[in-house]
Amino acid sequence: MNSSVTLFTSERIHCIFCGQEVIPDLNDENGVLDHCAHTQIISHSEGIEYISEGLEKLLAEMGFNTDDGFLSRDDDEDFDQWEVLEDLEIPNSLLVTRGSGTPGDIEVNVYFALADS
Ligand SMILES: [Zn+2]
Repeated sequence: MNSSVTLFTSERIHCIFCGQEVIPDLNDENGVLDHCAHTQIISHSEGIEYISEGLEKLLAEMGFNTDDGFLSRDDDEDFDQWEVLEDLEIPNSLLVTRGSGTPGDIEVNVYFALADS
């Protein structure tokens, strides 16, 4: 099952599987970007902050690369990053979008998936 939710800008993102705080409040100077074992990708308008080895490999097999810090297709065709992730149909996965509620704030997307093993 694939699900996605949208969180508002002031909310922190926690992994739905283990509870780890993955995106601390960007307004918190002590905030550190972190990920847990279930985090597949963390990205925002400035590019990809984190991508798991497993997801990177899976995407590479589909003709994508992350060489420049963004998800790109080897043939340069346009695509929607999140549609690509949905098409993977990874079971027990969740996309969390923290919207940009204020000017200058950036939208952050985190994709979690429960590992099979
Ligand atoms: Zn986790």
